[in-house]
Amino acid sequence: MLDFLKEKWPEILDFFKQEYDIADVSFKTWILPLKVKSFENNIVTLVFPGDSGKTGLQYINKKYLSLLKISIEETLNQELEVQIILPNENEEKEDASSKISSVSKEDISLENRIIESNLNKKYTFDSFVVGSNNNIAQVTSLAVAESPGEVYNPLFIYGGVGLGKTHLIQSIGNFVLKNNTNAKVLYTTSESFTNEVIDLLGMKKTSQEEIIEFRKKYRNVDVLLIDDIQFISKRDRTQEELFNIFNELFMKHKQIVITSDKKPKDMEGVAERLISRFEQGLTVDIQNPDYETRMAILKKKAETTGTEIDESVLQYIANHFVSNVRELEGSLTRVITFSKISHSPVTVDFAADVLKELVSPNYEDKITCEYIINIVADHFQISPSDICSKKKSREFAYPRQICMYLCRVFTDEKLETIGAALKKTNHATVSYGYEKIKSEIETDPSTKNLIEVLKKKINPN
Ligand code: ADP
Ligand code: MG
Repeated sequence: MLDFLKEKWPEILDFFKQEYDIADVSFKTWILPLKVKSFENNIVTLVFPGDSGKTGLQYINKKYLSLLKISIEETLNQELEVQIILPNENEEKEDASSKISSVSKEDISLENRIIESNLNKKYTFDSFVVGSNNNIAQVTSLAVAESPGEVYNPLFIYGGVGLGKTHLIQSIGNFVLKNNTNAKVLYTTSESFTNEVIDLLGMKKTSQEEIIEFRKKYRNVDVLLIDDIQFISKRDRTQEELFNIFNELFMKHKQIVITSDKKPKDMEGVAERLISRFEQGLTVDIQNPDYETRMAILKKKAETTGTEIDESVLQYIANHFVSNVRELEGSLTRVITFSKISHSPVTVDFAADVLKELVSPNYEDKITCEYIINIVADHFQISPSDICSKKKSREFAYPRQICMYLCRVFTDEKLETIGAALKKTNHATVSYGYEKIKSEIETDPSTKNLIEVLKKKINPN
């Protein structure tokens, strides 16, 4: 039947043109572009291509559908129904935007949907260790994943390198896909978004269609995840595109999640109007993991690798890698791998040896108060949180004062900053601790000796 209809199509058009007195341009705009798609159950389906989308379709339905029906019926000599659709309603197209819209089809497996969304399935809430440093970011992310577009929009997550931003934002995407068979999710980094905009504008002749496709790709989603937004800095055109996409999604109550290395206010080279959009929802941060969280992450990691590792080794690693979860995990992997290769048991000494280049920073500016606190804690076999507590016994007070001294010696930090690192509000306490250890070094050989040892540990170079 379809072939028959296609064969007769020119005749139908002729009939239409002669029977109804319409302008050439109208005929060219509305009727000529129509394509025969199917003829089943007595229903003729025509496709109306072009950029005018729904607006065009509404118009053609209202104005020409009944005339078309008559023309087809007259030419084929039978009664039938006619419907006109847009290309991407039922049709597979090769381009990116229709790939996204086709994601909603239930026959496509979760696996494929994850790939289409640009996500990595290894990042889930289940594998994310929650600690005091990230619990607000984690609960708000989960809330957003459970009720996209309904709670915090946008959700803006910021924090330093390797602290789990990508892990969290991708967990949101994976959760949404798994729990909503129809949801469309798109993950991108602002770097690749920027490159897309540059490519689009850099082409000699970018057709209107290509620009529309690009916009469609980002505007036809339920959840848009943009990682590392800082790369849009100073990219005016990228910011403009993003601003428009943002507004459209926001108005449609679609969820937007953004990560960044800084809070919106501190971002440089970003238009004020974008910053105010970013701040419109909820801004949450991820801090460095505390000792307990670092231990929990290491234990989880050790568990997944299926290797039995002594607690003391994990403590050693937790004490030396304080501000980057990627390095923390990487150190454990390195220790495990080296022990397998060399058939050596994993002891603290072995770990220290394998990690020695990573543990001792080569430049002074890597030596932070927190780094020093961790070295001192490790030396005294206590936890950094005990050093940073109000506990007054000498067991903790002495290492704490040692930290005050070493922080003043090794860093340029102000007394207030050192105090803050040690969770002490009064900077006079820091000053007192520093002076006390300084005079002890002159009078007490064991303190002098201890400081020498610790200085070597902090910077062996
Ligand atoms: P960022 O994007 O903030 O630079 P990532 O999300 O890439 O950091 O995290 C670096 C690595 O550390 C990843 O392998 C991630 O899975 C892991 N990671 C970070 N935070 C956690 C956490 N809280 N629990 C488990 N793994 C984590
Ligand atoms: Mg990241």
